[in-house]
Amino acid sequence: MLDVLRRIVQEVSSVSDLGDALKVVVARIREAMNTEVCSVYLYDAEAKRYVLMATEGLNQEAVGKVSLQSSQGLVGLVGSREEPINIDNAPSHPRFQFLPETGEDPFMSFLGVPIIHHKRLMGVMVVQQRDSRQFDASEEALLVTMSAQLAGVIAHAEATGNIQHLPDTRDPAVKTTRFKGAPGAPGVGLGTAVVITPAADLTSVLDKAAESVDDELERFDQALEQARSDIRRLGGQLRNELRPQEMALFDVYLNMLDDNALGAEVRAAIREGQWAQGALRKVVMEYVGHFRLMEDTYLRERATDIMDLGSRILAHLQGTEQETDPEDYPEDTILVSQELTPAMLGEVPHEKLRGLVSVRGSSNSHVAILARAMGIPTVMGAESLPYARLNGVELVVDGYRGLLYSNPSDELRMQFQAIYEEEQALAQDLEGLLHKPATTLDGHRLPLWVNTGLITDALRSLDRGAEGVGLYRTEVPFMMKERFPSEQEQREIYREQLQAFSPAPVTMRTLDIGGDKSLAYFPITEANPFLGWRGIRVTLDHPEIFLVQVRAMLKASEGLNNLRIMLPMVSNVTEVDQALHLIYRAHMEVLEEGFDVEVPEVGVMIEVPAAVYQIPELAERVDFLSVGSNDLTQYLLAVDRNNPRVADLYQAFHPAVLQALKRIVDEAHALNTPVSVCGELAGNPMGAVLLMAMGYDILSMNATNLPKVKSVVRGISKEWAERLLQEVMVMESAQVIASTLQLMLEKAGFGRIIGPVIKGG
Ligand code: PEP
Ligand code: MG
Repeated sequence: MLDVLRRIVQEVSSVSDLGDALKVVVARIREAMNTEVCSVYLYDAEAKRYVLMATEGLNQEAVGKVSLQSSQGLVGLVGSREEPINIDNAPSHPRFQFLPETGEDPFMSFLGVPIIHHKRLMGVMVVQQRDSRQFDASEEALLVTMSAQLAGVIAHAEATGNIQHLPDTRDPAVKTTRFKGAPGAPGVGLGTAVVITPAADLTSVLDKAAESVDDELERFDQALEQARSDIRRLGGQLRNELRPQEMALFDVYLNMLDDNALGAEVRAAIREGQWAQGALRKVVMEYVGHFRLMEDTYLRERATDIMDLGSRILAHLQGTEQETDPEDYPEDTILVSQELTPAMLGEVPHEKLRGLVSVRGSSNSHVAILARAMGIPTVMGAESLPYARLNGVELVVDGYRGLLYSNPSDELRMQFQAIYEEEQALAQDLEGLLHKPATTLDGHRLPLWVNTGLITDALRSLDRGAEGVGLYRTEVPFMMKERFPSEQEQREIYREQLQAFSPAPVTMRTLDIGGDKSLAYFPITEANPFLGWRGIRVTLDHPEIFLVQVRAMLKASEGLNNLRIMLPMVSNVTEVDQALHLIYRAHMEVLEEGFDVEVPEVGVMIEVPAAVYQIPELAERVDFLSVGSNDLTQYLLAVDRNNPRVADLYQAFHPAVLQALKRIVDEAHALNTPVSVCGELAGNPMGAVLLMAMGYDILSMNATNLPKVKSVVRGISKEWAERLLQEVMVMESAQVIASTLQLMLEKAGFGRIIGPVIKGG
């Protein structure tokens, strides 16, 4: 039996589509148990129905069409009891339900087992036989074991969006459908889907010999120039929303179209005798294929940019370019595309854009980075979305959770409309707090700083009353380029940040790439990237990159002196010693070049568990510490922060995380070293209350959450927060801690503030 099981599991894991996996399972189980029918019913929790999703032995036409209410039939009974039912005369059972569509009536024997994942019922697997017989214990065990395996497969398909949406067997008038993606930019957007497709399809271009190479070269040059001017025009539309450095992204595109890059290769292919379209397809598809094969998600996504450029050039070659009039977009546009690109953002007038949805891509895609800077709710990677059929359909975008609803029911629409209005109202109310300090009722002052990446973030942060920058993620401007920015380029970028906040301090983190963040021009391929070459490990191995960056920071700070430098991913003191050595060296060099700059404060990020146990040794070496709670949580709990399979285990309020946080602040303060938190936890109003109570000196968060945190800080006393901390520090479970915090803050009148952001942290 073990052998049978092993074979089935192997076969199932080799197919990527859930539907195919179910087909394999029912066929193999029927064969292995030598019975007549094996079927899988999946549970649609929203409709409260079991839908027949695969069968071997029943009428195939019934698949996807037949469904049972949760209280109906033996299937419903297995589901509600959450245990196997094994009977030899099914039709005589009081719960037997005859379903004519399945051709089921002659089957006497019935064995059904629930499919359960992490305590959640996902469906029921059933075997049936014409003769009356009791399935034996080993058969029952086989089915139970198989269903446990299947539960994992279904849950994975669901989490990664690979599940074919359960066919809707309900009344079509209420067919609200939910799709899962990844959060791209926070916020809620309601509106009408406008699906944009590329103006031309590169993949369908045929090979053809050029009649005249010169003519083809000329046609190509013209099309290339037109595509360039498209990109300039689209970039131009965003000029009011974005700053020059962010517009650099569009220069990257223009450079890809450069005569020495893509252009040169296409021309070479034309000279070999291809017509312009064929040559373009060949070159672009080669690039795309190359990028798509890359393991690194960030690099895989560069395929999107090249494909977008390729189809724009093709559209000009074949005269199919689309010029959409900005007037044509509805007032509440939700832009949907298979692969959204930054250039597409330029197509829609900003005031009409309510949300963005991309079938491909992740929260690291360029378009998501820009959407966050522009404050447009965005869902990325909604892979199960039948986007081509959505034009004109009403959509709700939940950028907090990465969810999308089509045809929302009245109830759902009202619910989200209320959240949207609440957010707008809250934002207005919170504006009143802009110039008020974050001081508790009993007079404790808690500086609230922001995390930035783009200069737009920085400006938005000032609007929200930020008192400094606790984390400037320098990798973001690096990601916007096609090569390492030069010292001079970096200096200009950093100067703008420092100037925007001067005299308030700006904490610049040295380049933190690796893990899930990489640069197209500096690929890192590793089996285990989060435990690999990341952060300080990369830059200490490349002192030239580190020195250029630090020199640029120092020069940028001349006359302002509000720079602080922070080192990411430190796991031992040697790394700090080496980094300090390089920083002093850079300082000497900069002085020798005639700049008049002070040595900046230097700090270490505490985000690796080892660092938690070396706080005194680290604190002794630097001026401040800052906890990267995102990574610290990930490494303490051994839970990949981006893996949807284990998302439930990524618990910001895990008692071990809280113990570590408390230990860090106590030990740092014993040496009089100031310590801040710059991970998401600091921007979660519930997390902020605990961190303040623990004694953290500064909290640094995204600009969106700052006014919310400020409002809570101003509405409570430090003493109240300390009592709450004492209470939760002795609790054993993250869930209990989170619900206690939620309850206590609701009781204190902050229900509105923690509302849609409870997931943060
Ligand atoms: C963190 O790890 O908490 C942090 C702030 O750094 P990042 O999220 O950029 O890794
Ligand atoms: Mg980190």
